[in-house]
Amino acid sequence: MFNKRTKIKELLQSAKTDIPCTVMGWVRTFRNNQFIALNDGSTNNNIQVVVALGAFPDETLKRITTGACIKASGTLIASVGKGQTVELKADEIEILGDSDAEKFPLQPKKHSLEFLREIAHLRFRTNTFGAVFRVRHALAFAIHEFFNRKGFVYLHTPIITASDAEGAGEMFKVTTLPLDGTAPKNEDGSINFKEDFFGRSTNLTVSGQLEGELAAMAFSDIYTFGPTFRAENSNTARHLAEFWMIEPEMAFYDLEDNMNLAEEFIRHIIKYALTHNREDLEFLAQRLEEEEKQKPQQDRSEMGLIEKLEFVVNNDFERVTYTEAIEILRESNHNKKKKFQYLIEGWGIDLQSEHERYLVEKHFKKPVILSNYPKEIKAFYMRQNDDGKTVAAMDILAPGIGEIVGGSQREERLDKLMERMNEMHIPAEELDWYLDTRRFGACKHAGFGLGFERLVLFVTGMTNIRDVIPFPRFPKSASF
Ligand code: ATP
Ligand code: MN
Repeated sequence: MFNKRTKIKELLQSAKTDIPCTVMGWVRTFRNNQFIALNDGSTNNNIQVVVALGAFPDETLKRITTGACIKASGTLIASVGKGQTVELKADEIEILGDSDAEKFPLQPKKHSLEFLREIAHLRFRTNTFGAVFRVRHALAFAIHEFFNRKGFVYLHTPIITASDAEGAGEMFKVTTLPLDGTAPKNEDGSINFKEDFFGRSTNLTVSGQLEGELAAMAFSDIYTFGPTFRAENSNTARHLAEFWMIEPEMAFYDLEDNMNLAEEFIRHIIKYALTHNREDLEFLAQRLEEEEKQKPQQDRSEMGLIEKLEFVVNNDFERVTYTEAIEILRESNHNKKKKFQYLIEGWGIDLQSEHERYLVEKHFKKPVILSNYPKEIKAFYMRQNDDGKTVAAMDILAPGIGEIVGGSQREERLDKLMERMNEMHIPAEELDWYLDTRRFGACKHAGFGLGFERLVLFVTGMTNIRDVIPFPRFPKSASF
């Protein structure tokens, strides 16, 4: 057996000393030919491995370089140096993998996030990304735990789909037809997808919601948690071409039930991270504080990361209708002084991210749930309100992020749904399977979609979505 070692996290918390132990990990630094800072990813903290002078041949010492992988065995002792309570006095050191110090791109100094993005295959070995991806893991775990405790069924919806009716975003095509111009064509010159692998045109999914609704009509409560793909050419710090989405769908829920669940869900997940990832969050809070110092005073956030997360856990979200939000925005000094790029003139426009951020960051200073949007700017499946103008939609907006959740009560009335599809030129034949849920035992139901990376952004205080997914996909980039 090779893996007879103790993880560094466990050793650092050890109450016992003077015990034999073995660690394995990657060298962060090697000081004075004596002190190795070793990390194995179990925690951001390194264990100090002390190499007694003269105990090892020069040949070995030379190979202890930043990035090298080593195994060290010896005795765990109480540390006399400051910065750690225990350290490992090494009797044996084995180099498991060399790392050429001249060529290893990660030096023991501060690198920019942009540079680290270019070496995303190595950035896990930095403190920042170590913390980010341990937190990401914990959030994913907490999400499953939350729904499991409530009796939701985890549903795997398809990744390849033929329905592109939702219009949530531009889609990526999936095909095995040749791309060299020899693909079979119809008489009108268009590609004949009947000859394609699935016998029809297919895409990568933009959302699992429609399939989720089918299952909710049997299990009552389901959720999906999987990858979604949008070929949107938006080069923003909040959009990815491949991202993970959590989509719960609940029978017997109206819009208010839906908002209550979404709010409880977000607060619970954040609380989980505050309890289980304290060390990493404190590190990230400090990182953010330093980053904020680079900004002009008026752009700095008033709260630190931990403070902000605690604030969200302890305070109700603000709930306002779209109509109320438009009033607030129109009457704002910001609008009157023409500081918005898109000025708010009347009811009916889609809110831009500058408007969302104004509401959340300047006006309410807390997460906001906006509801009852004009039907023209929302999807066909959202339940039509009695006013004939709005639908039972809700978006949750978070400080620093903008939209984090989009959801709605679904239209369960077959006639209303078909009427709306007709108006929006969505062919009913293609969604016959979806409409069946309205034919056989329809009921009030609702659901929402939460972009996982936007949640990770919020919790970690990172500012670019490309830094919270291991290998980001965005326009002109699919490396690794
Ligand atoms: P936005 O207006 O920010 O583009 P959207 O209205 O297109 O969002 P929905 O279709 O409602 O978003 O998707 C549900 C959730 O998925 C959003 O609230 C957001 O958290 C997340 N999301 C949407 N598009 C992306 C993307 N390209 N990258 C990462 N997350 C996304
Ligand atoms: Mn979008």
